[in-house]
This record gives sequence, C-alpha cells and structure tokens, in this order.
Amino acid sequence: MNPLDTLIELSSQMTLEHAEDVRTRGRDAPDCYSPRERDQAFVHPAQLPNGKSIKLLKTLLSSACERDCFYCPFRAGRDFRRATFKPDEFANLFSKMNQSGFAQGVFLSSGLAGGGVRTQDKLLDAADILRKKHQFKGYIHLKIMPGAEKDQVYRAMQLADRVSINLEAPNTERLARLAPHKTFIEELLRPLRWVEEIRRAVPAHQFWNGKYPSTVTQFVAGGADESDLELLTTTHWLTKNLRLKRAYFSAFHPIRDTPLENKPAVTPLREHRLYQASFLIRDYGFEVEDLPFASDENLPLQSDPKLAWAQLNLIHAPIEVNRADRRELMRVPGIGQRGAEAILAARRIRKLRDLSSLKKLGVIAERAAPYLLLDGRKAAVQPALFGG
Ligand code: SF4
Repeated sequence: MNPLDTLIELSSQMTLEHAEDVRTRGRDAPDCYSPRERDQAFVHPAQLPNGKSIKLLKTLLSSACERDCFYCPFRAGRDFRRATFKPDEFANLFSKMNQSGFAQGVFLSSGLAGGGVRTQDKLLDAADILRKKHQFKGYIHLKIMPGAEKDQVYRAMQLADRVSINLEAPNTERLARLAPHKTFIEELLRPLRWVEEIRRAVPAHQFWNGKYPSTVTQFVAGGADESDLELLTTTHWLTKNLRLKRAYFSAFHPIRDTPLENKPAVTPLREHRLYQASFLIRDYGFEVEDLPFASDENLPLQSDPKLAWAQLNLIHAPIEVNRADRRELMRVPGIGQRGAEAILAARRIRKLRDLSSLKKLGVIAERAAPYLLLDGRKAAVQPALFGG
C-alpha cells in the first residue's frame, strides 16, 4: 500500500462508521471514495482553544491492536484489514499535506502493538520528526497510550499542543465492563495525573511553544450502563484536580463482531445533554449536585439541564437583574458568559428595566424572561419584541 492509501485506510477506519464500511467493502475500499469523499474522510474542521479554526487530520499510526476492548472496532481478532505507518513515513506524508494546505494540524492515535511503551515511542517519534526534521509549527494532539511511562508523557507534552488519555468509563467497575484488560487507575488515570504533576513542576517555557499542552479525555457514554451522575462526577473531579480542559462523550453504538454487538445504541441526545451539563460545571459555576438528575441518576433528555434547573429553582424565585452577581446571572437560561458580563457593565451606568435592553446586551430575552425581575417587576414578554 502506498503511504496515501495507508492514510486513507487508517483515517477512515478511525470513525466507527467507516470501520464498518471498510469491513463491508473489503480490500478495495479506498477506491470507493470520490475525490471529495477522500478529503472529507480524514480531514475535519476543528476549533483550537484560541478560537481559530483549522483543517485537522485525524488518524491512527496503526489500526493493529493486541487488546480486546469490548466496544472497539480495532480489537484484536476482529476481521478487517489492518494498516500501519512507520513514524517517518507518516511524518513525511503529513508534512507534504501541510505544505500543500490540505491539513493544518494532526490528531494522532494508534492501536496497541508490542505494549504501551513501544507504541507510545512510535507516536513520539512521528511527532518528533514532524517538529524537528520538518519544522512543523502547527497543532499536534497526541494520544497517550495505556501503559506509557512518565518520561514518555513528558516527551509528549514537549511536542504536542494537546495530550489525551481516554478513560472510556468513569471508574474501575464500569471500565471492567468495557475493557477488562485495561486498568483504570494504573494505566489511564495515572498518566493524567502525571500530566498535571509535570505542569506543576516544569516551567511553561520548556514546552514546544512556551505553553503547557491542554489535556482532554473521552468516555463511551452508556457503554457500561453507567449513569450521567457517575460520568459527570468523574469529569468534575478531573476538571478541578487535574485541570482537564474538557471531556468528550461518545454515545455508545454497537459494532459488529464485538462482544457488545447486540447492546442497543445510546441516543446521541444523551451525549448532547452530557456536554451541556459538563459546560455548566466547567464554565457556569454549577456543582454536580445542582444538576437536575432523575431518580435513575440520569439527566432528563427532553430538556436542557440549565432550563430544567431553572424550572425547579428560579420559576418561583426570579433573579433581580440589577442586583444579581455574575454567577447568579449565568444560571438564568438565555444568559451566557458574555451576556452576564454585558449586564454587569450596563447596570453600572443605568438600571435595566425592560427586556429590549437585555436583548441589546446579547441575552435571549424570551428565554430568560420567566426567571427574571427587572427593577422589582416580573419581566413581561412583549410579543412585538419577538416578532410575534
Ligand atoms: S486498546 Fe484502544 S485500539 Fe485497542 S481495542 Fe482497546 S480501545 Fe481499541
């Protein structure tokens, strides 16, 4: 296989749907793509932490894996064509893609072959060649392999803008139902701790662009029958203690020829509610226990968690816009971080007395109205204001 075909094979395998397609279509799969599909199969628009949008190549160094995680299309023994890059082969190809404007950043992961340490070395070598030989100055997100050593985590942090370790499940018991040969504490949580230890011990200027790389993780939502409360408790702990930038939630869906192939798929709406809740915790000052969990410890699917919280807590105790602090304002549906700041700035100059003033400040006034007092009076929704 030439390097470009290897890349197409590996990148398209990286999304679960494509892994299924590749297996179905067999050895000639790459030829099934139109030129446009070939591009879209592995380069994705992505937003960087600084807000800039780039074309991000997401790929594996190898789809060969010796582990047997129950949910994973790459698990050992599953019948599909595996492909592998050598580190320099990948770095050379990506460098050409970058120079031709095809991709501006890379997210590089791998199946495990020969243990976590050996696999991690190959990922590190690929990133090292890109940075040193090809002088690549763009975005690199490197995956930390289960079983990697602390020195390797440090080296990854010196090369990458972001490092990630997928926890997959919120605790040891749940992980055992998804990946019985991964150990939650030793293989997954410990490297996440190392990242934070290194950030605390080493000055930022020693990292490749003078900044600490961010850390993220991913959970297979619903794969182990865990509750939203379990997922969000772990996410909150990681955010608070290990400065996790964000958690990704990937709704479980069954893959053919895996032990979980008959387990029903989890609705993507659950994934969406988990994201909303995790942002309320990270950015809006909510505690896990504030969230409106049902008796089964899951969030309601039919309503976004901020709205559900407001209906329980604010509907009979509306917030006075002219007195509330930033945190209180941000708990109101329709008021985001910027809206809260704009309200605080505006009311230093004048009292806010009507919804049209809020609307001018970026508040979704119709949504916020039931939970607000404007200068002591319940906010009245004026139909004309909303075009009704
Ligand atoms: S170690 Fe990673 S690639 Fe291998 S089976 Fe598990 S999740 Fe899949």
